[in-house]
Amino acid sequence: MITHHPAEELLAAYAAGSLDEATSLAMATHLTLCPACRAVHDDFEALGGVLVCENAADTLKPDALAATLGMIRAAGSGVADSGVADSGVATVMRPQPSTVATAGSSLLPLPLQYYVGGDLAAAKWRPLGPGIHHMPLIADGAASARLLRIAPGRSVFEHSHEGNEITIVLRGSYSAGGENFRRGDLEMADGTVSHRPVAGSEDICVCLAVTDAPLRFGNFLGRVMQPFIGI
Ligand SMILES: [Zn+2]
Repeated sequence: MITHHPAEELLAAYAAGSLDEATSLAMATHLTLCPACRAVHDDFEALGGVLVCENAADTLKPDALAATLGMIRAAGSGVADSGVADSGVATVMRPQPSTVATAGSSLLPLPLQYYVGGDLAAAKWRPLGPGIHHMPLIADGAASARLLRIAPGRSVFEHSHEGNEITIVLRGSYSAGGENFRRGDLEMADGTVSHRPVAGSEDICVCLAVTDAPLRFGNFLGRVMQPFIGI
């Protein structure tokens, strides 16, 4: 049961193809695991197709988004069946990785397997700290994506953020800020959030972590390690 989801603005930006590669990977990963957000994303994609087809983006009324989404939802699957959602324009707008699939029996969603080179057993871990390993996946300027593996009960260094951080749980769980995050849950953190995620004691915790700017570590060891680990 997924209880933490991305903001609708992020789903809309993903549908419009305007996110960087690392953030797109986070969205593709969450959508693979979350049917509720897939439905919202499909609405936005259909909406994008409608706007492109009608060339109406410059003349929108303030309530156009809600009104058009209402029309799409009222039409049920009719919009998708009409081919609007799968028009050539919408396909070009779709970011890479674009795979929105169900997770099946794999631990890693398909978009992640493309970067890892297989399911979780194929991951090549590097030590990051006591009980913590990572596998960098994308380093694109300030933006980065990595898998994190945290031993049961261990914690990541306390840190805050220069930019945005998205964390998605793939295995096990972690707690941060009084909340619990499980498989498929997505946590968003920005410069206002300082947290120290602690892995659940029942299993190792594996997460996808995406940042668009360096983290700010609250302790000396974290700051000393930062240049070596590239976070
Ligand atoms: Zn969701």
